[in-house]
Amino acid sequence: MRKREFLLPIDCCPICGAKDTFRVRGRIDDIPYFGELMETFASCTSCKFKHADVMSLSERPPARYEFQITSEEDLNVRVVKSSTGTLKLPELGVTVEPGPASQGYVSNIEGVLGRVKEAIKLAIEKVDAPRRRRGKARIKKLDEVGAGKRRVRLILMDPFGHSAIVDERAKRRELTKRELALLRGTPSPSGA
Ligand SMILES: [Zn+2]
Repeated sequence: MRKREFLLPIDCCPICGAKDTFRVRGRIDDIPYFGELMETFASCTSCKFKHADVMSLSERPPARYEFQITSEEDLNVRVVKSSTGTLKLPELGVTVEPGPASQGYVSNIEGVLGRVKEAIKLAIEKVDAPRRRRGKARIKKLDEVGAGKRRVRLILMDPFGHSAIVDERAKRRELTKRELALLRGTPSPSGA
């Protein structure tokens, strides 16, 4: 495996301003059927800021990937999820949109389901009982997906083309103008 690593020394932390505490580590990796990928990990020992992200180094069009999870083996399918990617499990009513704290990572479907589960657990800690029940029902369904007992679709959309479901069975197409506008939070040109 061809891998290159680098370290960027940065004088001061862009978050807290402390000196010599902030650094960015990077790794460039060649992913089969995806191309060159750069992972970055930024952290500050003073304010404990941490951020991880991934981006494609080759030019890739805005894309939408769809994958039907049908078995336990499907959990091994590789997923590249950048901070600019939107994840959906439509049958479970789950959407994970990019935000200021959005992280990027390279994982597999099992890892994605685990992260979604953790996010739901956190989100239902301080909500009312009906919402907590709905959250718990979603977690139960996620566990069933993980055990290969429930078929759902995983959809990954990225207006910058940095995210992908790396498997030949994944359906890939370019994002439509309308999808792009929705993902970027700008009104659709057609006004629809
Ligand atoms: Zn800092």
